[in-house]
Amino acid sequence: MSDTTPANTSFNALPLSPALLATLQQLQYLTMTPIQAASLPVTLAGHDLIAQAKTGSGKTAAFALPLLTRLNPRRFAVQALVLCPTRELADQVTQEIRRLARFEDNIKILSLVGGSTLRPQMASLEHGAHIVVGTPGRIMDHLDRGSLKLDALNILVLDEADRMLDMGFNDDIVYVVKRCPPNRQTLLFSATYPEGIDRLARQFLHEPTEVKLLEKHEGSKIRQRFYEVKHEERLQAVATLLKHYRPVSTLAFCNTKQQCRDLLEMLHAQGFHALTLNGDLEQRERDQVLIQFANRSCSVLVATDVAARGLDIAQLEAVINVDVTPDPEIHIHRIGRTGRGDEDGWALSLGSPADKRRISAIAQMMGDEPEWHTLGSLQSGNDSPLVPPMVTLQILGGRKEKIRPGDVLGALTGEAGFTREQVGKITVTDQTTYVAVSRGIAREAVRKLSAGKVKGKSVKVRALEN
Ligand code: ADP
Ligand code: MG
Repeated sequence: MSDTTPANTSFNALPLSPALLATLQQLQYLTMTPIQAASLPVTLAGHDLIAQAKTGSGKTAAFALPLLTRLNPRRFAVQALVLCPTRELADQVTQEIRRLARFEDNIKILSLVGGSTLRPQMASLEHGAHIVVGTPGRIMDHLDRGSLKLDALNILVLDEADRMLDMGFNDDIVYVVKRCPPNRQTLLFSATYPEGIDRLARQFLHEPTEVKLLEKHEGSKIRQRFYEVKHEERLQAVATLLKHYRPVSTLAFCNTKQQCRDLLEMLHAQGFHALTLNGDLEQRERDQVLIQFANRSCSVLVATDVAARGLDIAQLEAVINVDVTPDPEIHIHRIGRTGRGDEDGWALSLGSPADKRRISAIAQMMGDEPEWHTLGSLQSGNDSPLVPPMVTLQILGGRKEKIRPGDVLGALTGEAGFTREQVGKITVTDQTTYVAVSRGIAREAVRKLSAGKVKGKSVKVRALEN
């Protein structure tokens, strides 16, 4: 088990082709992230690997680089397979591999995920693919139908393995792995290391090297405080914290779905703009929640660890642990989502007297004494409601209608007369486009967009409010 970073973190030290090195430079990947520095020498040498590091640490490139290096583009067969838990994550991985594969224009990377019809995927497979990224269920379907063959496979990657297990994919994974050639290289990536992972690894990996980066977050960026609460005060305490700290975006973790529902109800009742992520949402609804949260038009996102795994949100002022998790690694992973880059972040946790031992253990693991505060010490002076700075507008029509972000920006800043600064993130999905605008102009923007045209056509527009 290695927990040290090699001194040389330049990609140039690795046996990568000049073209691949040039691509990395173009992408501004100047130095390896710690997980890349620890795992690339191992994987490029052909060894099996178990790697554990938190979300956003650069795990995709850690497996994409060996995968692209081993690939023979002249051989028309699937040479690498990446299993991911969700369509969303599979899409992210596909995009990242495509960016890294830019140096070779004839590498075909295919995403095979549920939620879209099988037939077009089968047609794409017939045209040949070098790398397949997919969700376990869908990959299994294609194996069953004979549309996907794995006999030329060199590398198998299990990405976000912990989450795949959480989602009940164990049997599907076993089914798929058993159809891979036995002499392949297997790489397993995970943000946490629950017991099931060990079982998978023992079954399917061959003398793997283990790389585990338990990141100690820089204390200066994440400010961690614990608040003692009685059981019955817990939900109300979240509102008190939000009113006191007034973060623009907060991710609130609960240990159970029921707690998520209760908290959401309480927050709505008190006028907060809050949304929740849970496994019951359809993909389209989930996308919509994430878009609203990421573009700063929703103050609080309430989620369980399972629902939030893999989420990478750039600007997050606070993480609130409504329930403290029993697993210190999960705790560290949760709070590591705030205080990214140069921003400071608050990690606020609620603990009952019964949680105290657990919290001491967590703090000890982070090399700290827990800093306890009381709710009574919080200013309740500012009672004005916490309002997100932006509002998300939903425009019916998306990629299918050939709408691009520039069309929407053009419509808002052109005829409608708004400034660029009043327009936030624009996200175009297949059938819908989302644009964030400053709260103050939301109503007028809906009116003007509805009256005018986007890409030469009238469009239906509404503001999403939560
Ligand atoms: P993980 O899978 O660990 O959650 P990702 O692979 O999605 O993390 O990487 C997170 C972000 O960091 C991505 O936007 C990716 O493009 C970027 N990234 C990865 N490696 C590097 C690097 N060496 N230098 C700069 N940016 C990087
Ligand atoms: Mg990842």
